[in-house]
Amino acid sequence: MIGTKRFCLLHWLILFCGVVMAHAQMTPQKTAANEWIKQNEAKAKEVNQRIWNLAELGLAEHQSSQALMDWLEANGFAIERGVADMPTAFIASFGSGHPIIGILAEYDALPGLSQKASPVREEREGSANGHACGHSIFGTASTTAAIAARQALASHGLKGTVRLYGTPAEETGIGKIYMAKAGVFNDCDAVLHWHAGDRTRSSYGTTKALVSLKYTFRGLAAHASRSPHEGKSALDAVELMNVGANFLREHLPEDSRMHYVITDGGGQPNVVPPAAQVWYYLRADKHSDVEYMFQRLTDIAKGAALMTATTVDWHVDSDTHEILPNLPLSQLIHKNLELIGPPKFTEEEKSFARKTQEPLKGPFKYALAEIIEPLPNEPEKGKASTDVGDVSWMVPTGGLTAASYTFGAPGHSWQIVACTGTTIGEKGMLVAARALAYSALDLLTTPEWLKKAKADFEQRKAGYDFISLIPAGQKAPAKIK
Ligand SMILES: [Zn+2]
Repeated sequence: MIGTKRFCLLHWLILFCGVVMAHAQMTPQKTAANEWIKQNEAKAKEVNQRIWNLAELGLAEHQSSQALMDWLEANGFAIERGVADMPTAFIASFGSGHPIIGILAEYDALPGLSQKASPVREEREGSANGHACGHSIFGTASTTAAIAARQALASHGLKGTVRLYGTPAEETGIGKIYMAKAGVFNDCDAVLHWHAGDRTRSSYGTTKALVSLKYTFRGLAAHASRSPHEGKSALDAVELMNVGANFLREHLPEDSRMHYVITDGGGQPNVVPPAAQVWYYLRADKHSDVEYMFQRLTDIAKGAALMTATTVDWHVDSDTHEILPNLPLSQLIHKNLELIGPPKFTEEEKSFARKTQEPLKGPFKYALAEIIEPLPNEPEKGKASTDVGDVSWMVPTGGLTAASYTFGAPGHSWQIVACTGTTIGEKGMLVAARALAYSALDLLTTPEWLKKAKADFEQRKAGYDFISLIPAGQKAPAKIK
């Protein structure tokens, strides 16, 4: 009996490993996708350089989105433009019917982060913006992956649809939120995404929920010296509101964050400000905590208005949920990353990265990471937010990061702009493109993966009441601010 039992365990172990190995192996479809990427590397780099140089801000990414749409259209994708009333949002589709596999692309830059593709801080002439979140390689890699998967789909007569979602204004959490509200993800079977990073790994974690909103106070203008008693200062209201908010901090969950900027503080000192505005970001690990913060902060705003005899109204620009992790999709992406291998960098690229580390607080383990990190056992808690969050509550969603910039570089830094404009970022971009394409093909060809991803998704969101603080029927803003 003991011997039989031992044989059985071994037998199952071999079978299990066999299944795992089968998923980690190349398939003819993946080989076709890989070949296409190899043949089109130069084009992918050209597209990245174009978007990197354009460095267009959220909702103004007209030429960047066009560059991606042109490439997709030339490869047989049908394009739907102006999705969810945003001129720079689009959906590119190839194929028909289920499974429908979505891939997310971003392409917005950040203001005030102009930087040359240089290892020292040097602003680039002609632009005040920079791709300090690596979205030029993000959009390009996702598009490369969608076209590569499409080639494999067509050449192997596979059923299903590959859909590339062009999602603008990620930096202000707008694009995917309004696209999700418009229901464009509802018929997808799975969604894949990636992000530039300082390491290569399949993501298995959450982010912070985030609501972005503005409080506008209105008072009465008056001469600030001759008749201040006749004025009602909207700026006083903003200041009192911020004092109240800072006292509130002590009584919020430890993982919460509140940050604000005064977007309108009046015109000049000799006029009692008749209007003033403050822009808040409220974050927490759980959306329910953000809902609570919103309620408390709005009461404080009302109190500030009462204290100053002004009026207040507020506008929720965006509301993003925390990411709902999906273990099977994380496992699938991890297996494909292992199959592809991490980006490998030249000595020249490493010395470029080392130079960019000089102003940073080290020491650093690497100049550039050349390993694939293990998949965490438990979902990790991220401190940033992304509008991928809402997508992940609508459809099973999996993602990754690929080493594309200096190890240890802070997010939204000039080091990221510098690296993503060079072959460093483009190596990460091509690893990500392959990982997304391979994972999309596995999902199109192996129903078991989709089944597991859907079961995990249903189990994690069971009983959750999805609430958006954006009023029903509100359209996406025409521009940021
Ligand atoms: Zn980003």
